[in-house]
Amino acid sequence: MKYYDKLIFELSSEGKKGYALPSMTWKDTVDDIPGNLKRQTMPELPQVSEPEVVRHYTNLSNMNFGVDTGFYPLGSCTMKYNPKINEEIASSGRFSGIHPLQPAKTVQGVLGLYEDLEHALCELTGMSAFTLNPFAGAHGELTGLMIIRQYHMKRGDSGRTKIIVPDSAHGTNPASAAVCGLEVVQVKSAEDGTIDIDSLKPLLDDTVAGIMMTNPNTLGLFEKNIAEIASLVHGCGGLLYYDGANMNALLGVVRPGDMGFDVLHLNLHKTFSAPHGGGGPGAGPVGVSGRLADYLPEPKLCRLEYGSLSMKEDMHGKDSLTAGRISGFAGNFGVLVKAYAYILMLGRENVRMVGPLAVLAANYLKESLKKEFSLPIESVCKHEFVFDGLSDKNSGITTLDVAKRLLDYGFHAPTVYFPLLFHQSIMIEPTETESKDTLDSFVTVMKLIAAEAKDNPDILRTAPHDTPVRRIDETAAARNPKLKYGDLK
Ligand SMILES: *Cc1c(COP(=O)(O)O)cnc(C)c1O
Repeated sequence: MKYYDKLIFELSSEGKKGYALPSMTWKDTVDDIPGNLKRQTMPELPQVSEPEVVRHYTNLSNMNFGVDTGFYPLGSCTMKYNPKINEEIASSGRFSGIHPLQPAKTVQGVLGLYEDLEHALCELTGMSAFTLNPFAGAHGELTGLMIIRQYHMKRGDSGRTKIIVPDSAHGTNPASAAVCGLEVVQVKSAEDGTIDIDSLKPLLDDTVAGIMMTNPNTLGLFEKNIAEIASLVHGCGGLLYYDGANMNALLGVVRPGDMGFDVLHLNLHKTFSAPHGGGGPGAGPVGVSGRLADYLPEPKLCRLEYGSLSMKEDMHGKDSLTAGRISGFAGNFGVLVKAYAYILMLGRENVRMVGPLAVLAANYLKESLKKEFSLPIESVCKHEFVFDGLSDKNSGITTLDVAKRLLDYGFHAPTVYFPLLFHQSIMIEPTETESKDTLDSFVTVMKLIAAEAKDNPDILRTAPHDTPVRRIDETAAARNPKLKYGDLK
């Protein structure tokens, strides 16, 4: 029997203890605490022994699936392998032991790392300036939109309240725009999956603040009309926002700045390697073109006259253009260190290979599986692509069944039912860090599943069979989570 067969979470029983404290020598101090502030009852904590605690968490960690345990082709998430050296460097006491309120002169090395990373990101994206403050991709989107709004407002162009978002966009795009107080206007995709220019043109007027684009888009397709779109949107006075979560496809090949984008965010926890999922930690730096540099949020890194670095804040200054403050301090430093280590480790030559190898891996899987799975858009893809369920629809086997069965074979499922353009979307992103052997075994398993759909469909409908939990009510799990001691009582 495996640990999870028992699913025992409540291990507590009266009197068990996993700690021993020295006898109390500070009783007088406790006596000084006023009676009404003193705890009257014991805190409700589990009573367990040390081996029980160790086994509980070790077993839980073994039930988890991660990039370190297997292939994780989750579309739009860039689940690449995270080199362990990044962790080692980021957890060095020299980085983890400092405090954001330390005087700048005691952390010049750390500020130098910020500066170097900003420069590297400028060079990789073609932007002029960066802020490393945002904590996630969606947070970067909000920051970028605040910059766009502030830019129009400061120029007295306050009627620009609309933001154009393609129907294929990641859900965070319209959500961030709404949080920023902008009105979302959807633009349709054409037959080939890219933005339909004829649908875009009538939307462009002096109420448009800008357009949010993902390139390659969430179908893994490069928006080849980007130069024309840029000139149309700029022509009506709007700005171009680039959702850089898909930057892995282009890294080292083309730069959003050169395509005409004014603002972008990157997902360091996707493109630049850092373990992610389950909500963090992440980093969503925002880059801007020269004319928007003064609008970046604060605190802002600056070089003082005598050469040393400092974090500047002047939000309330008379001439300040900054979009404001979007984080307590200057970002998720540990994630920034990992991205920095990753960039330096690859170096100028190898960073150019990331995009091309990610694209090669995706096209290899797409071509290997396009007989068994329905491929609505056949052109060469970038770093990811979308199937619309099994080619043979007779079995009634759904994308969910395929995804659940993959778990039995030891693979993480791809992204399913996104993008919304197809009914049975399976979105696959292998990344550049997987070997051909791994890709080949994924192909073998996907073909096996397609065969099972014909010969033994029930085994798919009832999958997964070998995981700690089977098909769960995911909505209930999200709406009514039981996360802490006592919740299961
Ligand atoms: C992941 C992703 C985001 C959001 O990034 P988070 O860090 O999860 O907030 C936005 N857009 C696209 C295309 C993404 O893939």
